[in-house]
Amino acid sequence: MNQKKAYLSLGSNIGDRLHFLKQATNRLNEHGQMTVMNISSVYETAAWGFENQNDFYNMAVEMSTSLSPEALLEVCQSIEIELERVRDIHWGPRTIDIDILWYENVEMDHENLTIPHKYLLERPFVTLPLTEIAPDVSVAGVKVSTVAAHHEKAKEKCLKLNHVINVHT
Ligand code: AMP
Repeated sequence: MNQKKAYLSLGSNIGDRLHFLKQATNRLNEHGQMTVMNISSVYETAAWGFENQNDFYNMAVEMSTSLSPEALLEVCQSIEIELERVRDIHWGPRTIDIDILWYENVEMDHENLTIPHKYLLERPFVTLPLTEIAPDVSVAGVKVSTVAAHHEKAKEKCLKLNHVINVHT
Protein backbone atom coordinates (compact mmCIF):
# COMPACT_ATOMS: atom_id res chain seq x y z
CA MET A 1 0.00 0.00 0.00
CA ASN A 2 1.15 3.53 -0.75
CA GLN A 3 2.07 5.11 2.58
CA LYS A 4 1.65 8.87 3.05
CA LYS A 5 2.93 11.11 5.78
CA ALA A 6 0.42 13.19 7.75
CA TYR A 7 0.61 15.41 10.82
CA LEU A 8 -2.17 15.62 13.39
CA SER A 9 -2.79 17.98 16.29
CA LEU A 10 -4.26 16.54 19.51
CA GLY A 11 -5.72 18.59 22.36
CA SER A 12 -7.52 17.86 25.64
CA ASN A 13 -8.85 20.06 28.44
CA ILE A 14 -11.06 17.81 30.55
CA GLY A 15 -10.16 15.42 33.34
CA ASP A 16 -6.93 13.47 33.03
CA ARG A 17 -5.63 15.25 29.96
CA LEU A 18 -2.50 13.10 29.57
CA HIS A 19 -4.66 9.99 29.77
CA PHE A 20 -6.85 11.20 26.90
CA LEU A 21 -3.86 12.18 24.76
CA LYS A 22 -2.37 8.74 25.39
CA GLN A 23 -5.66 6.94 24.65
CA ALA A 24 -6.08 8.84 21.39
CA THR A 25 -2.47 8.18 20.34
CA ASN A 26 -2.80 4.46 21.05
CA ARG A 27 -6.06 4.23 19.10
CA LEU A 28 -4.52 6.02 16.13
CA ASN A 29 -1.58 3.60 16.23
CA GLU A 30 -3.82 0.53 16.62
CA HIS A 31 -5.71 1.31 13.41
CA GLY A 32 -4.67 -1.20 10.75
CA GLN A 33 -3.92 1.41 8.11
CA MET A 34 -1.72 3.78 10.04
CA THR A 35 1.24 3.97 12.36
CA VAL A 36 2.38 6.70 14.73
CA MET A 37 5.92 7.54 13.61
CA ASN A 38 6.85 10.48 15.85
CA ILE A 39 5.39 12.40 18.79
CA SER A 40 6.09 15.94 20.03
CA SER A 41 6.30 17.08 23.64
CA VAL A 42 3.08 18.01 25.40
CA TYR A 43 2.37 21.77 25.77
CA GLU A 44 0.12 23.42 28.33
CA THR A 45 -1.90 26.19 26.69
CA ALA A 46 -4.47 28.74 27.80
CA ALA A 47 -7.87 27.93 26.26
CA TRP A 48 -8.87 30.08 23.29
CA GLY A 49 -12.15 31.92 23.21
CA PHE A 50 -13.85 30.97 26.46
CA GLU A 51 -12.87 31.76 29.98
CA ASN A 52 -13.55 29.40 32.88
CA GLN A 53 -12.04 26.50 30.99
CA ASN A 54 -9.14 24.34 32.01
CA ASP A 55 -5.90 24.90 30.18
CA PHE A 56 -5.40 22.57 27.24
CA TYR A 57 -2.71 19.98 26.80
CA ASN A 58 -1.64 19.97 23.15
CA MET A 59 0.72 17.86 21.08
CA ALA A 60 1.43 16.89 17.47
CA VAL A 61 1.99 13.46 15.95
CA GLU A 62 3.42 12.23 12.66
CA MET A 63 1.44 9.42 11.02
CA SER A 64 2.29 7.09 8.20
CA THR A 65 -0.95 6.03 6.58
CA SER A 66 -2.50 4.40 3.54
CA LEU A 67 -5.81 6.14 4.28
CA SER A 68 -7.06 9.00 2.12
CA PRO A 69 -7.40 12.40 3.87
CA GLU A 70 -11.19 11.91 4.06
CA ALA A 71 -10.86 8.43 5.60
CA LEU A 72 -8.24 9.72 8.04
CA LEU A 73 -10.67 12.45 9.15
CA GLU A 74 -13.34 9.78 9.74
CA VAL A 75 -10.98 7.79 11.95
CA CYS A 76 -10.01 10.92 13.92
CA GLN A 77 -13.68 11.82 14.42
CA SER A 78 -14.62 8.30 15.51
CA ILE A 79 -11.82 8.34 18.11
CA GLU A 80 -13.13 11.73 19.32
CA ILE A 81 -16.61 10.23 19.69
CA GLU A 82 -15.32 7.12 21.50
CA LEU A 83 -13.36 9.21 24.01
CA GLU A 84 -16.13 11.79 24.29
CA ARG A 85 -18.36 9.18 25.93
CA VAL A 86 -16.55 9.57 29.22
CA ARG A 87 -16.94 13.36 29.34
CA ASP A 88 -18.57 14.67 32.50
CA ILE A 89 -19.94 18.02 31.28
CA HIS A 90 -22.52 17.58 28.54
CA TRP A 91 -21.92 20.79 26.62
CA GLY A 92 -18.54 21.49 28.10
CA PRO A 93 -15.08 21.38 26.57
CA ARG A 94 -13.95 18.19 24.92
CA THR A 95 -11.90 15.34 26.26
CA ILE A 96 -10.08 15.15 22.96
CA ASP A 97 -9.85 17.15 19.76
CA ILE A 98 -7.97 15.71 16.77
CA ASP A 99 -7.25 17.83 13.69
CA ILE A 100 -5.44 16.99 10.48
CA LEU A 101 -2.75 19.64 10.10
CA TRP A 102 -1.00 18.50 6.95
CA TYR A 103 -1.13 15.55 4.54
CA GLU A 104 1.62 14.75 2.05
CA ASN A 105 1.08 16.36 -1.38
CA VAL A 106 -2.51 17.33 -0.58
CA GLU A 107 -4.06 20.77 -0.73
CA MET A 108 -7.83 20.83 -0.51
CA ASP A 109 -10.59 23.14 0.65
CA HIS A 110 -13.77 21.13 0.89
CA GLU A 111 -16.82 21.74 3.03
CA ASN A 112 -15.71 19.27 5.71
CA LEU A 113 -11.97 19.21 5.26
CA THR A 114 -9.31 21.83 4.63
CA ILE A 115 -5.69 20.72 4.23
CA PRO A 116 -3.31 22.17 5.27
CA HIS A 117 -5.43 23.08 8.32
CA LYS A 118 -6.74 26.67 8.14
CA TYR A 119 -5.03 27.66 11.39
CA LEU A 120 -1.82 25.68 11.01
CA LEU A 121 0.36 28.79 11.23
CA GLU A 122 -1.94 30.84 13.47
CA ARG A 123 -1.68 29.20 16.85
CA PRO A 124 1.33 28.64 19.09
CA PHE A 125 -0.22 25.44 20.45
CA VAL A 126 -0.04 24.06 16.90
CA THR A 127 3.26 25.49 15.63
CA LEU A 128 5.35 24.82 18.76
CA PRO A 129 4.65 21.06 18.96
CA LEU A 130 4.68 20.69 15.17
CA THR A 131 8.06 22.35 14.69
CA GLU A 132 9.61 19.74 16.99
CA ILE A 133 8.73 16.94 14.58
CA ALA A 134 8.22 18.79 11.25
CA PRO A 135 10.19 22.06 11.16
CA ASP A 136 10.26 22.08 7.33
CA VAL A 137 6.53 21.76 6.74
CA SER A 138 5.34 24.95 5.07
CA VAL A 139 2.11 26.63 4.03
CA ALA A 140 2.24 28.96 1.03
CA GLY A 141 6.04 29.04 1.30
CA VAL A 142 6.10 29.92 5.01
CA LYS A 143 7.87 27.37 7.20
CA VAL A 144 6.41 26.15 10.48
CA SER A 145 9.80 26.63 12.16
CA THR A 146 9.86 30.34 11.21
CA VAL A 147 6.41 31.02 12.64
CA ALA A 148 7.10 28.90 15.74
CA ALA A 149 10.17 31.03 16.49
CA HIS A 150 7.91 34.12 16.55
CA HIS A 151 5.28 32.34 18.62
CA GLU A 152 7.91 31.32 21.18
CA LYS A 153 8.50 34.99 21.94
CA ALA A 154 4.79 35.80 22.24
CA LYS A 155 3.25 36.38 25.63
CA GLU A 156 0.50 33.87 25.16
CA LYS A 157 0.77 30.89 27.45
CA CYS A 158 2.15 27.83 25.69
CA LEU A 159 4.42 25.97 28.04
CA LYS A 160 6.46 22.95 27.02
CA LEU A 161 6.01 20.24 29.62
CA ASN A 162 8.66 17.72 30.47
CA HIS A 163 6.50 14.98 29.08
CA VAL A 164 6.31 13.02 25.85
CA ILE A 165 3.58 10.44 25.32
CA ASN A 166 4.80 6.99 24.35
CA VAL A 167 2.58 4.62 22.44
CA HIS A 168 1.40 1.77 24.66
CA THR A 169 2.78 2.94 27.99
P1 AMP B 1 -13.36 21.35 15.56
O1 AMP B 1 -14.55 21.03 16.40
O2 AMP B 1 -12.85 22.71 15.73
O3 AMP B 1 -12.29 20.28 15.66
O4 AMP B 1 -13.86 21.29 14.04
C1 AMP B 1 -14.31 20.11 13.50
C2 AMP B 1 -14.87 20.39 12.11
O5 AMP B 1 -13.87 20.96 11.27
C3 AMP B 1 -15.35 19.11 11.48
O6 AMP B 1 -16.67 19.30 11.07
C4 AMP B 1 -14.45 18.92 10.27
O7 AMP B 1 -15.18 18.44 9.17
C5 AMP B 1 -13.91 20.31 10.02
N1 AMP B 1 -12.54 20.33 9.45
C6 AMP B 1 -12.13 21.03 8.37
N2 AMP B 1 -10.83 20.84 8.12
C7 AMP B 1 -10.37 20.00 9.08
C8 AMP B 1 -9.08 19.42 9.35
N3 AMP B 1 -7.99 19.69 8.59
N4 AMP B 1 -8.97 18.58 10.42
C9 AMP B 1 -10.05 18.32 11.19
N5 AMP B 1 -11.29 18.83 11.00
C10 AMP B 1 -11.45 19.66 9.93
